[in-house]
Amino acid sequence: MAKDVRVYYPASIRAALEGLTTLPGLGPRSAERMVQHLLSMDTELVIRLADSLRGLVSRVRPCAVCGFYAEIEEAEAVEAKCVFCADARRDSALVCVVEQPQDVVRIESTGAFAGLFHVLGGRISPLDGVGPEDLRIAPLLARIRAGGIGELIFALGGDLEGETTAHYLVDCVSRLGLEHTPKLTRIAQGVPVGSGLEFADAASIQRALGSRTLFED
Ligand SMILES: [Zn+2]
Repeated sequence: MAKDVRVYYPASIRAALEGLTTLPGLGPRSAERMVQHLLSMDTELVIRLADSLRGLVSRVRPCAVCGFYAEIEEAEAVEAKCVFCADARRDSALVCVVEQPQDVVRIESTGAFAGLFHVLGGRISPLDGVGPEDLRIAPLLARIRAGGIGELIFALGGDLEGETTAHYLVDCVSRLGLEHTPKLTRIAQGVPVGSGLEFADAASIQRALGSRTLFED
């Protein structure tokens, strides 16, 4: 077996290579090219990049309400609210349930939605070992139980896992046995939502939101 070429590099380069290869899609050779590139870049830019990575892990937390990204003000703060949940002008009676934080950004960029969000953090997928307990379902049910939500819009993937997740959630909501169950709707089908809304363009997301339908079990 060929010897690991990393042993010939200075310690700092070895450390950078080790860190970079933990990223998805970055093999040993790409990591070597990346390090070579970083060393040829303006030092100031590389330091800014390093600082932004530090900021990611030290200041970004999931929003205590919806699970979207939030930024904490002080290092001691444990809970934070995202820009949407902190904005009193948004319609808190309307909650759009999505799989990933990126979906929030896609929907928001259409300018057609003024409600709040709830990020599940994935979808039920037994093949990938993702069960309901791995998703932010309990916090969603707690929000519903707290009252004030008039409509819950499911904007989940149109594939089998997305469907399974939506049905599971509808079941959970009806089992709450609330006096005032929120209206349960889904965005119109036909939007290419294979992995969330990531690949859908703004116009089709806006159309899908506008022509949402009542969820029929
Ligand atoms: Zn939030």
